[in-house]
Amino acid sequence: MAEKIKFTAEEQAFIDLALSTIEMDPKKRLSAVAKDVLDRKNYVFDAHSHIFDGQCVDADYMIIRLLKFDDNPILKRLLEFLIKRIIKEEKNFNENMNSADFVENVYLQKILKQHSFNKKDVDSFSSKITKEKDLGILMNVDWNNVVERIKDVIRILNSNKMEEVYNYFVKHAIQNNVPGKELISIQLGMDLESGWKGSIQKTYQEQTNELLALSQKQPILPFLPVHPERATKKLGDMNELYATFLRCFKKGSPNFYGIKCYPSLGYLPTARVLAPIFAVCEQANIPVITHCGGSMISTFADPVKTDFFGFEVNISEGDRKKNADALNEPHNWEAVLENFKQLRLSFGHFGGDEAWEKSKNTPAPRVSTILSYMHKYPNVYADFSFNFNDRKITKSFGNYFKSTDPNYAPFKTRSLFGTDFWVVVPQSDLEKDQKYFLKVTQGHHDNLLDKNVIAFLGLKD
Ligand SMILES: [Zn+2]
Repeated sequence: MAEKIKFTAEEQAFIDLALSTIEMDPKKRLSAVAKDVLDRKNYVFDAHSHIFDGQCVDADYMIIRLLKFDDNPILKRLLEFLIKRIIKEEKNFNENMNSADFVENVYLQKILKQHSFNKKDVDSFSSKITKEKDLGILMNVDWNNVVERIKDVIRILNSNKMEEVYNYFVKHAIQNNVPGKELISIQLGMDLESGWKGSIQKTYQEQTNELLALSQKQPILPFLPVHPERATKKLGDMNELYATFLRCFKKGSPNFYGIKCYPSLGYLPTARVLAPIFAVCEQANIPVITHCGGSMISTFADPVKTDFFGFEVNISEGDRKKNADALNEPHNWEAVLENFKQLRLSFGHFGGDEAWEKSKNTPAPRVSTILSYMHKYPNVYADFSFNFNDRKITKSFGNYFKSTDPNYAPFKTRSLFGTDFWVVVPQSDLEKDQKYFLKVTQGHHDNLLDKNVIAFLGLKD
């Protein structure tokens, strides 16, 4: 069924140039500090996290979406109410307020202005929560914790340095739950400048340089975000996408380790311009992680203009969420995998929490598609990041490890642990949720936190 790509002379020239100038040995793409941790063989991996700061994202938009203000009107109103209270309380302590609190304060004011709170809202809020079901939802929420998390996210968004966010990550990361182990992590960049409405203060190149520099100081494996839109811009005598790729993987200089795709930012993985990059990734053992979960972060374009190996495709499914879901579908990768069968590909979020809510007894379509690729292709993996904030679906995930059904065998050898820090912070008590994840996957930690990640990264001896 799959369309076989025939590269043009120009595309082939890029592939040849890449293969003769980039680092082909995965081990040599590791920074000295990452290599040290791996050599000591006493680590745990977080295979999916982010340390972008407030200047890498559109902070206003991010916090509103992260707090799920749009999804649940009851929670939205209550969160607004809480934020208002936080401000009010802090105002009373104005004199003792340090500068960080002050920034938070100003920040929260800004959010509230965008979601102004009037009498009508309060009335409809109180009439709505009289429903027993809603009261149940509200009573089960640990509100102190929610307030702390709101503050955490605001602190992160107020930072303008990835290193500060990284230090915060280390305080909450998985090694705290596995005594005696060192932390090593995959840090995924995001190109929100492409395909996203909003003001991003740090440019793509600035973010790329900062992440690369940090990877020389800390045990992290940085993944370069790619977006087809970059190929429409020039950098030197080449398009920005290819020029950046060549620079970031160049032999003899600090290297990115892998590639990050985020289809819901406005493209299919079959976008023609990505195919030469995947051809190089396959041959040079450069691993690719793709977002395959929720639709929170997505392009505003409608229709989404993309292509299937050069044949124009317009995606217009009815609304923004449906477009995002269509772009994130794992089956969009089948044609890529058919062309590049050895490609190292990990599906971030294993299909996503919505798919996992429907996977209690048998895998929902997204999960079973990923599972079928694990059977069919030698280097397909998936991480369970973000989803672990929900106990029910974490339990379902753990149950597949207990199954003796050969169809579910890849769970043991192809699953990776990841958090999706800090995107998950508003919804997760990281310490408790990571503990629970470890509990339901008891007996498989060696694989999830080490061996499977090493295999995905092409670092197996
Ligand atoms: Zn992520």
